[in-house]
Amino acid sequence: MSQIDTASIKISRAEGSKVSEVDFGQLPFGRVFTDHMLVAYTQNGNWEQAEIKPFGNISIHPALSALHYGQSIFEGMKAYRDTKGNPLLFRPMDNYERFVKSAERMFMAPVPKSMFMEGIKALVSLDREWIPAVPGGSLYVRPLLFATDPYVGIKPSDNYCFIVFACPVGAYYAEAINVYIEEKYTRAAEGGVGAVKAAGNYAASLYPNKFRVDKGYRQLVWTDAKEHKYIEESGTMNIFFVINGKVITPDTSRDTILKGVTRMSVISLAKDMGYEVEERRISVMEVIDSLQNGTLTEAFGSGTAATIAHIAAIGYREGHHDLPSIDQRPISTALLNRLTNIRTGVEPDPYGWVVKV
Ligand SMILES: *Cc1c(COP(=O)(O)O)cnc(C)c1O
Repeated sequence: MSQIDTASIKISRAEGSKVSEVDFGQLPFGRVFTDHMLVAYTQNGNWEQAEIKPFGNISIHPALSALHYGQSIFEGMKAYRDTKGNPLLFRPMDNYERFVKSAERMFMAPVPKSMFMEGIKALVSLDREWIPAVPGGSLYVRPLLFATDPYVGIKPSDNYCFIVFACPVGAYYAEAINVYIEEKYTRAAEGGVGAVKAAGNYAASLYPNKFRVDKGYRQLVWTDAKEHKYIEESGTMNIFFVINGKVITPDTSRDTILKGVTRMSVISLAKDMGYEVEERRISVMEVIDSLQNGTLTEAFGSGTAATIAHIAAIGYREGHHDLPSIDQRPISTALLNRLTNIRTGVEPDPYGWVVKV
């Protein structure tokens, strides 16, 4: 893949901004888009100059291989306003590294680092007025890479399209959510693609999710594909439990769990705040027993979209186990506050996570 001079990203500005039409107090997640997007294509396998241009439809060939065979991956990160109103990205390099890993696993052309980083910075800078100046508000940045060969045969595509667009968003789950432990369907198996953000993973989760959503559960808690005995993650969030005061999360060594940037951040913060942290296998039985004997006091999901989503109750088979109310969750509340304050520049960032645009 040839390296291009991405310092020269072409910028074609929108004629006017739609930002004044948006009600930032009432933002549905992922349905409002900023004025611009970044688009880049490969030609004969080489990246051409990326262009930031007015947000809008793209034209695709009906035989586009991504549509037929699923060579399509994505990322998700957020830009926040600091106390002075300037945009801050949270750990974008970690998203880039995962994007490369996803591309590798799906046998796709990687996006050059400079195009990814400089492209996102330029887009966020141009659309900075779209970062909501409301509590919990941020700009959700969505990088996307898909195969563009117009070819019906199954083979790795020769050419790809890289797009980045952004959505102003409010708090994801304003309330604590109910989750249900899934024992029939599987999200990821060892040797599969669960550890990368491949588009098809999310399509495959919709049908299993439906049954529980119908019964009042917001997300499934996935279990391991072999025995359905061990907890993996919840929907598109990693999962944490507080048991006997220890912060416990499933380890990611089997490559069936997505290694969340939020997960890594929560683990670092929890350790530095003096909590004992365990990354290990955690069985469904341990969770249910700890719920029943009252030693499991807090549970939450972690992810860029949701940040930290408190879990209100856990369903398992015929049972429904309520957790303590949110005001009785000192550890997850402290972690959420610390993470929020670092991401928004309210507290200094000793980790080097925050990147100015
Ligand atoms: C994106 C994602 C997460 C969370 O990752 P973050 O980097 O924290 O946003 C967790 N699980 C799955 C399956 C995901 O797709």
